[in-house]
Amino acid sequence: MTGTTQPPALRSVSGQRLAALVADRTSDSGLARDADVVSRVLPFKVSSYVVDHLIDWDRAADDPMYRLVIPHRDMLDPADYALVAAALDSGDAQALRISADKVRDRLNPHPGDQLTRNVPSDDELDAWGLQHKYAETVLVFPRQGQTCHSYCGYCFRWAQFVDRGDLKLAVPGPQVMTEYLRRHRQVTDVLLTGGDPLVMRTDLLAQYVEPLLTDELDHVRTIRIGTKALSFWPYRVLPGPDGDALLRLLERAVSAGRHVALMLHFSHPRELSTEPVRQALRRLAGTGAVLRAQAPLVRHVNDEPDTWATMWREQVRHGIVPYYMFVERDTGARRYFGVPLARAADVYREAVRQVSGLARTSRGPVMSASPGKVCVDGVAALPSGPAFALRYLQARDADLVGRPFFARFDPLAEWWDELRPYGPADVPFFGRTG
Ligand SMILES: *Cc1c(COP(=O)(O)O)cnc(C)c1O
Ligand code: SF4
Repeated sequence: MTGTTQPPALRSVSGQRLAALVADRTSDSGLARDADVVSRVLPFKVSSYVVDHLIDWDRAADDPMYRLVIPHRDMLDPADYALVAAALDSGDAQALRISADKVRDRLNPHPGDQLTRNVPSDDELDAWGLQHKYAETVLVFPRQGQTCHSYCGYCFRWAQFVDRGDLKLAVPGPQVMTEYLRRHRQVTDVLLTGGDPLVMRTDLLAQYVEPLLTDELDHVRTIRIGTKALSFWPYRVLPGPDGDALLRLLERAVSAGRHVALMLHFSHPRELSTEPVRQALRRLAGTGAVLRAQAPLVRHVNDEPDTWATMWREQVRHGIVPYYMFVERDTGARRYFGVPLARAADVYREAVRQVSGLARTSRGPVMSASPGKVCVDGVAALPSGPAFALRYLQARDADLVGRPFFARFDPLAEWWDELRPYGPADVPFFGRTG
């Protein structure tokens, strides 16, 4: 891609055309059938860029990029797979919908009480579509940004992408956000998220960003934009009317004295390897925005220390600051992507020791759980047995932040709700469930 080429038009495959795509690229009708069945339950979409530039089809189904986006039969419990497969084969659309909904309800569609606990309850304001969990940061979910150029199989917001009205969380427009911020002057950070806000055209995105640059909202110091567009559709940032307008918008925000951070989601070093993504990164960095990267640690995609070490080194080389390594949440295809916390801590430690200090800025593994963001610092040998050494990086109760505490070691535990206090002194840290 040269500096003058217009970006291609977005093409993506979803729904019914998935089985044909997988059959065509892999010549494996079993993989195609599995993808077809599982995609009736979990959302699926893949862009032509991911199909043509990221997935190594010759290595399917073991290729990490294949594993990231293409539905696999092991994502569902065998009995659930059989239920949906039978409904699909019956040709009865209603039976299929009922079976799919039943299986979805078993996949914990709303982890961490997202819908009940974090939506601000301001009587005069319909704040549905905002999340305000930690005092300084408000999350904004613009309605038009509640999709992505492709979907990650491990997405914890998968339920939003399934066509069920009761599962949606989004603000209809920027007014809800601006009105809320006018009334909450302790908020310094606004995080535009989704889905992926960069699926929105720049003029629409600007409707959310511009109000944050006004003097009236000058308590907002930081504007973060969470995106995986650089992995799934880097053309979004490349030369062309919309990409150029995006760079100008980011430059305006920087000139207005705001810290602008692009919170980039990279799951595997291959996503940093193509010419389009490298050009996109150079263009973004040129605006004065800060580039940061985060991703969950997931089985089949990035559960080896070398994968993270390589990814962090490549990020630093391309001007990106490694930020968080997350633990896969307790939702969706968790049985497929989940990694025990003990293993996650090992992967982090074995990766971080290989890289320079500039690449050691990633914190983790972190569970974004109901009471807060809990970092698993490692396994400690304590007098009465091994323990997980834990620490809140963020907490609903800010007083808990930064204090070391312990949970009983459990080699199989994958999530916060499986952990128990190690001793009486640790009980206050577990005060709330979730
Ligand atoms: C992670 C998170 C934030 C931001 O936390 P930082 O540590 O500032 O990156 C804000 N709100 C919610 C709900 C979060 O999960
Ligand atoms: S980019 Fe983020 S929101 Fe979109 S599918 Fe992946 S994890 Fe989910």
